[in-house]
Amino acid sequence: MSIVIVGAGQAGLQIAESLRRGAYEGRLVLIGDESFPPYQRPPLSKKYLADQMADERLYFRPLEQLEKQQIEFRPQTRVTALDREAREVVLASGERLPYEGLALTTGTRVRPLPVPGADHPAVCYLRGLDDARRLRERLPAAARVLVVGGGFIGLEVAATARAAGKQVTVVEALDRLMARAVAPVVSDHFASLHRARGVEFRFGVGLASITAQADGSFTASLADGSSIQADLLVAGIGVLPNQELAVAAGLECRSGIVVDEYARTSDPRIVAAGDCTWHINRRFAAAHRLESVQNAVDQGKIAAASLLGHSVPYQDLPWFWSDQYDVKLQMVGLSQDHDAALVRGEPASGAFSVFYFKTGALVGVDSINRPAEHMLARKLMQTGAVVPPEAAADPAFDLKTCLPPA
Ligand code: ADP
Repeated sequence: MSIVIVGAGQAGLQIAESLRRGAYEGRLVLIGDESFPPYQRPPLSKKYLADQMADERLYFRPLEQLEKQQIEFRPQTRVTALDREAREVVLASGERLPYEGLALTTGTRVRPLPVPGADHPAVCYLRGLDDARRLRERLPAAARVLVVGGGFIGLEVAATARAAGKQVTVVEALDRLMARAVAPVVSDHFASLHRARGVEFRFGVGLASITAQADGSFTASLADGSSIQADLLVAGIGVLPNQELAVAAGLECRSGIVVDEYARTSDPRIVAAGDCTWHINRRFAAAHRLESVQNAVDQGKIAAASLLGHSVPYQDLPWFWSDQYDVKLQMVGLSQDHDAALVRGEPASGAFSVFYFKTGALVGVDSINRPAEHMLARKLMQTGAVVPPEAAADPAFDLKTCLPPA
């Protein structure tokens, strides 16, 4: 028996370890095209970029621990094709690895800046450890940093660069920050926070081109005709799922590799998990793709169970976080299609939550510097508690009383 996992990120490692915990004793190969053992990504835009974290601390496990679990880890190895008929994974070297079970945990890659001049050496991205190293090396020499994209990556990088004393400008195509994920009241709060720390914003305008200057800096021209001079550009304009292998192998894909609620692709021998999947979660009516630690871990467990022949449906609650300066934004649920957003607490105090409802039901909560309320929100959502909107908005109302009796 042999199981091959393509992609050595958090989801891939989770599947490998869950298989061993599930008493799988056959051959287990974990393939990654990077040169590092599986590592945590969230610190890359924060502590790691601020030079406060050694590479080794990013690694989930020392290599010996993978060996001890008899996980055959193959770094710097590219898979070029999936031969479903022969049940083999084809490597760039030409080597073929046979499988009875296959897991795709190929993640995402950054969306490249779609403008002329984007190949300028001052243009950086932040997705993998290689990107983070490159950016960390370049940051000290840059006085002016231009961030393109006011999403999570862009804002975390902006905060880190500002804390390092850089002049920072953020260009965001939409009219507010993190628009994909949070309500305007949260966007506004973070815009004020960054402004108070000296970040400048350009909203509602896209980058048009980048022109090199003789001194190594560049001029960024914006779509409205204005321009910005800077030394370093960090683009955080979203990601694309790595699904080419799956597409070429004829597996169903949309904006991600399509899997059912058991993390199974359209081939019963192949599962997929993590950022690369277009998936169903029993909690939600529609399929979606999620970029999060929670999804990598929880869906990874489901995928491992399926490989072991157990059918465990995916119904975990999504949660996310972002750290900017000393402010922690914690999110639970999916609030995108809410019809009411109620603020609990006073944003001006720096700590508050937003409760999102859809037809009267709680669908998500964002908490800003309120970790206890975030944990309570998770419990409320996990238990399907009925939370009246007016109670959510009333700071004097004890929301714990909405929890069902234990
Ligand atoms: P990431 O994980 O890269 O932070 P998000 O989707 O959270 O991804 O944020 C990406 C942000 O970049 C969004 O707010 C989006 O509106 C913005 N954006 C996308 N394309 C451009 C562009 N060409 N110029 C400026 N902002 C952009």
